[in-house]
Amino acid sequence: MTVLSPNWLPNGWPERASARSILSGAYPYGMSYGGARESLGSFMNRVCNAQDVGRWTMTHRVLGPLARNLMGVEPMRMARDVGRADYMATLSGISDVALEWAEVLNRATLRNDLQMCTLLPLRGLVPSLKLQATARRHCPYCLDGDVRDGRESYMRLLWLLAPVKACPLHGVNLMEEPWKSEPHNKNNSSRRRSARESLPCTSMATAASGFDVEISRIIADLLEDATVFAGLQLEKSAQSVFLEYAADSLFNGKRAHLARHLGVNKSLLHAWVKGTASISLHRLALIAYCCNCAIADVLLGNKVRLSLRARPSDEPDTLLNRRNYVGRKSDAEIKDAMQRALRSGQALAGYQMADELLTSPKYLRMNFPEEYAAVVAAGQEKRKHDLDERKRRFTEEYCRAHSVVASTGEYPSRRRVIANMRTRSCKRGSWWDYHAAQREAHARYGTAVRRKHNWTARASPVTEGNTGISPDRDFL
Ligand SMILES: [Zn+2]
Repeated sequence: MTVLSPNWLPNGWPERASARSILSGAYPYGMSYGGARESLGSFMNRVCNAQDVGRWTMTHRVLGPLARNLMGVEPMRMARDVGRADYMATLSGISDVALEWAEVLNRATLRNDLQMCTLLPLRGLVPSLKLQATARRHCPYCLDGDVRDGRESYMRLLWLLAPVKACPLHGVNLMEEPWKSEPHNKNNSSRRRSARESLPCTSMATAASGFDVEISRIIADLLEDATVFAGLQLEKSAQSVFLEYAADSLFNGKRAHLARHLGVNKSLLHAWVKGTASISLHRLALIAYCCNCAIADVLLGNKVRLSLRARPSDEPDTLLNRRNYVGRKSDAEIKDAMQRALRSGQALAGYQMADELLTSPKYLRMNFPEEYAAVVAAGQEKRKHDLDERKRRFTEEYCRAHSVVASTGEYPSRRRVIANMRTRSCKRGSWWDYHAAQREAHARYGTAVRRKHNWTARASPVTEGNTGISPDRDFL
């Protein structure tokens, strides 16, 4: 356990007293198994619930100042971290931000193992690009079990990883939804009510393929094995040792055969062995599956007993290189599909077009420059048109509210007009939106600006005529 210095004890506390945690009442779930381990973002949420304090307040008042003392981190920046809809992914990730949060929560809860609730143990071993899923995912059966067992529902660290498609415990596909803001539940009773109301719908879960379940299990084992990675001096050359050993023991040293077994091209396997290319978590899981071992064996270069395991032919080919996959489609077919999308007006972004054609934007840009440029231009024009239309509707709404306020005999200040708008719509605009709309309304109805800033008077409050009383905000 981390020991706090005596100055962390309250005033008057005996000098030899044991340290006390600042935040008690919650502990991370599932630390003994990688498939059930709680993510740091979820733990942070439950710590706040245990104290009946919102995440922003907790960060701004308690954790932020603590982090500033420990690491010189700005509290407002940390408060912004937890204000984002995907704060769980940010706090539990592989970046320095996750490290700061783990450190400060370790100190506040008197623990020393919260790094295990993040992806930090994988740092330097797998590329961070596209490591985390872009949406919120969960297994309904796991959440259902939490409610039935009397725990608070919590988000597993495993669900944050993009290659994980299924729950290794229940064998169902993870359900996916966009990240959304989670309001803080003020007290325990409302939390229990909220948990009952949001009971996961297990009937909507679908059975996952055996391949996806096995890949999830392999990655869950990696999270469990990662607890010892911090004490080992891992080197990337260990992966080369493993690949050479796998080629020797399974294919008599023929790397090309190993590459074909793994579903990658020879040059990529050669780059892995030479250490000039990193192996993504997707590929590590695939190697471990196809060689029937654990990812830790690949990372550590363990010379364990290997056996061949082919990826089932009926399984979706999600782990293979997209370029290879699209190779089955001729360039003429791709060009024809792009021209058809342009004629129908469905081509609105280069990356979307690439996704639909199962290739990369770079491939389209290099091989079909004219069509790709037309797709990009069409998308830009559509987005500009949508933006102009949104601004026009917003201005019309503002002008309508402006005339309503003016008809009551009151001066249509921006504050009054905005209040009037909000009685009809929840739509909000930026400062520039309101500013432009106000100028348009003043011009359209011939409303004179009631008062302007007197910057000179504000700059010298002792000047004659300045009473020192702040002007009302009607000029806004
Ligand atoms: Zn589950």
